[in-house]
Amino acid sequence: MTSHRKDTGCFAEPQHDGAAVVIAIDGPAASGKSTVGAAVADRLGYLYFDTGAMYRAATWLAQARGVAIDDETAVTALAQAAEIDVLPAGEAADGRQYTVLVNGQDVTWAIREPAVANNVSQVSAYAGVRVAMVAQQRRLASRGRMVMVGRDIGTVVLPDAPLKIYLDASPEERARRRWQEEQARGGQRDYEAVLAEVRRRDAIDSTRAVAPLRPAADAVIVDSTALTIGQVVTRIVALAQGV
Ligand code: C5P
Repeated sequence: MTSHRKDTGCFAEPQHDGAAVVIAIDGPAASGKSTVGAAVADRLGYLYFDTGAMYRAATWLAQARGVAIDDETAVTALAQAAEIDVLPAGEAADGRQYTVLVNGQDVTWAIREPAVANNVSQVSAYAGVRVAMVAQQRRLASRGRMVMVGRDIGTVVLPDAPLKIYLDASPEERARRRWQEEQARGGQRDYEAVLAEVRRRDAIDSTRAVAPLRPAADAVIVDSTALTIGQVVTRIVALAQGV
């Protein structure tokens, strides 16, 4: 693990003025952000919010409406008008971390399909789509005590977040983890196809003009390639508690 900044921890309690206490976790596809983010939120009693689900939901909607993904104007208009909700899983017993609704329709599992994964980086590179999503994300974060996970949370959405984590792992390890998850759900893709998708998404996410994937200057960089989920969670909780 390397750090861009001194590990002062510093914010187990809300800031003096009662401002939001948010942990920003960014990193590339399949770096373990969602598993780690949800576990950290659970340990601290914070809410967990996965911003990737919003971009996936916008992508799903465009595909469901038959809008061409490279029609930026149409995709943006659709995303801006859409009502996208990411809600606690509630009673659902199918292993979901949360429930995603698009205009009231449950798309929690549909947004995990390869058809969405293969197009989401293109949709999320559209500036107008990002404006709509970021506004909603900031509104949510203003409620405080939240772990927000994505690509640009520390750099763009919440640059004042008191703890920013950049979670990384090698492309091979990330593809292996994603492939295993897919297999467990009955997926058919082979490892090489998953690795190709991971590499392609990394390339688009980190080279796009708007809000490219990169660590914030004051992010703590955690390389999870050789770590267990438990080790990563313990490390982040310790940082959050200033231990
Ligand atoms: O994290 P997840 O893989 O679900 O994110 C899907 C895609 O959404 C990413 O590949 C990226 O293109 C986009 N995304 C983004 N900004 C975020 C979260 C996700 O551009 N804050």
